[in-house]
Amino acid sequence: MSRGDMAKPLLGHRSMEGDPSTTPAAGRTIGVLGSGDFARSLAIRLVCSGFKVVVGSRNPKRKAALFPSAAEVTFQAEAVKKTDVIFVAVFREHYSTLCDLADVLAGKILVDVSNNTEINHHKESNAEYLASLFPACTVVKGFNTVSAWTLQSGARDGNKQVLICSNNQEAKRTIAEIAQVMGFTPVDMGCMSSACEIENIPLRLLPAWKIPIFLALGLFICFFTYNLIRQVIHPYIREQKNKLYKIPIEVVNTTLPCVAYVMLSLVYLPGVLAACSQLYYGTKYRRFPDWLDQWLQHRKQIGLLSFFCAALHAVYSFCLPMRRSHRYQLIETAVKQAVEKKMNIWVEEEVWRMEIYISVGIIALGLLSLLAITSLPSIANSLNWREFSFIQSTLGFIALVISTLHTLTYGWSRAFDENQYKFYLPPTYTLTLLVPCTVILAKVIFSLPCIHQRLLRIRRGWEKGRYVKFVLPSTTGEFSSGETSSNV
Ligand code: NAP
Repeated sequence: MSRGDMAKPLLGHRSMEGDPSTTPAAGRTIGVLGSGDFARSLAIRLVCSGFKVVVGSRNPKRKAALFPSAAEVTFQAEAVKKTDVIFVAVFREHYSTLCDLADVLAGKILVDVSNNTEINHHKESNAEYLASLFPACTVVKGFNTVSAWTLQSGARDGNKQVLICSNNQEAKRTIAEIAQVMGFTPVDMGCMSSACEIENIPLRLLPAWKIPIFLALGLFICFFTYNLIRQVIHPYIREQKNKLYKIPIEVVNTTLPCVAYVMLSLVYLPGVLAACSQLYYGTKYRRFPDWLDQWLQHRKQIGLLSFFCAALHAVYSFCLPMRRSHRYQLIETAVKQAVEKKMNIWVEEEVWRMEIYISVGIIALGLLSLLAITSLPSIANSLNWREFSFIQSTLGFIALVISTLHTLTYGWSRAFDENQYKFYLPPTYTLTLLVPCTVILAKVIFSLPCIHQRLLRIRRGWEKGRYVKFVLPSTTGEFSSGETSSNV
């Protein structure tokens, strides 16, 4: 998982951070039009951050009790007169009702905080619409990605980013300073044409998770069907045994580790493919194909879903002995042994296999938890690049190797037992080994000194068949430059 993914802001634009204590914004009077949920939370946050707040309502008497006593609640026109910066906490469909205030609003900064109910709901963004209604005002889009709850609970507990855009640099800076004093991180999204994009952000449902979720679901359906055929359909067709009771727990529990294990290998496979591409073309400056780029960007989500499936597998496995079917089977086995007068049923190899299998499974889950925790932005930000890379890359690869041991000790010699080939289908674990073993083998090959060195040079900028200018230290200790072939 790339650290860039975890550390970068919600959107890769310029941060507008400075020192909040030295900004001229602190202490100024801010106006809020509207007295709804957002207006109330905004007023509370502004008051707590040291601003004077004046709220403009159509019915100030009735609404005043809902606001902190430090905030002045008055009629809209009165409020607007007292300040140069006004947050319009009113829905788009009511903007036109504010047109009577056009004269008093002239020359002031209006902050459009509105959201839509659908992506690209209107032709023009709400902020552009507001600007068209009040051409004498400067409109800034911002704060719509922050919820009323985040405003009330403070920036510490919620999303810290406030995306801002406007055609007026000065107005944008003023709002950025206010956001900063309130404890948020302003992010400059450029000019007003970005407003539409900013308004769509709160409406998008897990955009970074769509592909990984579909991938996990696809794998789950494939492995579930495969296990169903082997564990339920095969005994029914061949021996007329009803094993439907296995579906809710046993079939699901044999499917989950398959998905977790393959997903974990899919976190590391794109890195292997990227390395192959770099080795083949002898450069790191060639763009990867789009599908590989996308895959590389989704590694964090794929890894987290792998952890989710592994955690579910652990819980399911823990609950296996609780099932009534399991108890019946135990009693049945005991009765059979008593009838057959078998006293010693201890199989040394089976005992060892099980002990090792469970132990490596627990270690693999522990490592996966570590990977999942350190991929959280708050934790990732507290690690330096080396620590992060060690955990995500080295420990992640070790987790894959240990998961492979877990799978192998589970399968043991079943792959060589012809009774395990139901309808000629090999045991599921043999299928799951395919991708992870390819990744492990590739990583081993890449660690061979000749390949490792070449890959390292490529990643430091060396290119096949190119002459580059190296800067060499001279004998006097100063640096001198000389042309040399990078192939040498
Ligand atoms: P709300 O609770 O319904 O408040 C809207 C306010 O608009 C009313 O309290 C009303 O205040 C005022 N208003 C002015 N003219 C109006 C008119 N003609 N008809 C009806 N109301 C009128 O809505 P809200 O949740 O605070 O949302 C306000 C804006 O913030 C929306 O654009 C929304 O998209 C945006 N926003 C909200 C959140 C959130 O978490 N709630 C988050 C981000 C953005 P008076 O009666 O005092 O005039």
